Amino acid sequence: MTVEVVKNYINGKWVESKAKETRDVFNPATGELIAKTPMSTKEETLEAIAAAKAAFDRWRATPVFTRVRHLNRIRDAFEENFEELSKTLTMEQGKAIDEARGEYRRTIENLECATSVPSLQMGYNTEDIAAGIDEMVIKQPIGVFFCVAPFNFPGMVPTWFWPFAIGVGNTYIVKPSEQVPLSQVKQFEIIHELGLPRGVLNMVHGGPEAVNTLIESPDTVGMSFVGSSPVGKLLYKKIGEFGKRAQVQGGAKNFLTVMPDADLERTVPALITSFYGCSGQRCLAGGVLLAVGDIYEPLKKAVLDAAKKYSVGNGLEEGVQMGPLASKRGMENVLGYIEAGLKEGAELLLDGRGIDVPGHPEGYYIGPTIFDKVTSKMSIAKEEIFGPVIPIIHVKDLDEAIEIIHANPYGNASSVFTSSGKIARDYQYKVKAGNIGINIGVVAPIATFPFSGMKDSFFGDLHGQGQDAVDFFTENKVVITRWF
Ligand code: NAD
Repeated sequence: MTVEVVKNYINGKWVESKAKETRDVFNPATGELIAKTPMSTKEETLEAIAAAKAAFDRWRATPVFTRVRHLNRIRDAFEENFEELSKTLTMEQGKAIDEARGEYRRTIENLECATSVPSLQMGYNTEDIAAGIDEMVIKQPIGVFFCVAPFNFPGMVPTWFWPFAIGVGNTYIVKPSEQVPLSQVKQFEIIHELGLPRGVLNMVHGGPEAVNTLIESPDTVGMSFVGSSPVGKLLYKKIGEFGKRAQVQGGAKNFLTVMPDADLERTVPALITSFYGCSGQRCLAGGVLLAVGDIYEPLKKAVLDAAKKYSVGNGLEEGVQMGPLASKRGMENVLGYIEAGLKEGAELLLDGRGIDVPGHPEGYYIGPTIFDKVTSKMSIAKEEIFGPVIPIIHVKDLDEAIEIIHANPYGNASSVFTSSGKIARDYQYKVKAGNIGINIGVVAPIATFPFSGMKDSFFGDLHGQGQDAVDFFTENKVVITRWF
């Protein structure tokens, strides 16, 4: 069967790539080949940069409310195509259709938040810093920015960035994950109809060659990266050599701590969606469950009971709670971690391997999995599994929990479940993670807040979303005036 090689979107036009190398894109629920991604060449990437550069001066001079009107149109069109966008996302990424809808709700919220740029981009001024002399800051757009996106949120992640970037007057290039190009293709098909000036928003598919070209070109000014920490760190170093701006959101190992005074009935559903939502392929997914003191036995039983009831299947079927892993490679990686857990002496309480999903023998499925008797030294307790696995560690008190959390290099998110305000306050004060949940399992900041992250989960200073995004995409120019 021949399938389409997806096209790049450059200067307001769909352009066939001439790249010899392509990557196969599979529907992870069925194993069916659904598209091919071109590994775009340096020349093609340079064309996109040239288009974005050429569009910059005019776009920058376009009144801010006109720019925002474009964002509003895109927002409305995404709303009108909500179901189709969500289905495309599930088809290529695998997550349950309700999770895809949730992702598109967030995508639209990012656009809604970016329509506030007329206020968010306002500078400030002070009169009479000396007699008759005024000083002001103007927040100016800088030029051509780009993002490098991961496979797990193919619809939403680019909108953490480009709506803010173009809203304040920059031009932009999206580099989707080669594993899941179709959601971005669908979005750009919609955007193509809406009259956004040519060159303002472009898309180049591919891998290292395209990314390196974007980094090295003298005509780009900054990068937003979301993906694994080793790749992120590599690219952060590289772009630093060129003196450009970068915000790099990396991987994670998120610890969820349950205190003896937690409300178990309400805690368990939050834990389950945290570990099993999106089949565990979230940078905010639960990574380790720390059961403190006497809660350990009842918690283990309640989590096991709930996990057994979690439904697994083709994400396009309504009611399915958990879809497949997004790729065969991702599935094999998780299976490798389950093997490692067994080898290192953990006890497999619930085994999701070999789960039977009727009608889909070729899909990349792993069911809910739980490991008990885990220690902080085991690889399943230290590394990002990116799959539906709950490693449980029994700790004696909060201090021991925090010690384990701080020994881990990542610092994306962490949650505590407790009825005590004092414990909650201590947790938010002490724990080194960028997003803290108090009786919340998935700490996903809404579009007006920075998408935080610390330690090896983030390299840079200004984060994605909200005011941070506007500051990242603008340069402060100070003007001091005196009129004679
Ligand atoms: P990845 O690092 O493999 O790929 C991310 C992007 O980098 C892709 O677009 C890919 O084409 C590109 N890339 C990969 N290797 C490259 C290289 N050598 N040179 C240049 N570009 C390269 O990540 P992934 O597997 O797509 O995504 C999963 C990871 O993303 C997980 O670690 C997850 O925690 C993380 N993530 C983090 C956040 C966050 O906000 N912190 C959000 C989502 C995902």
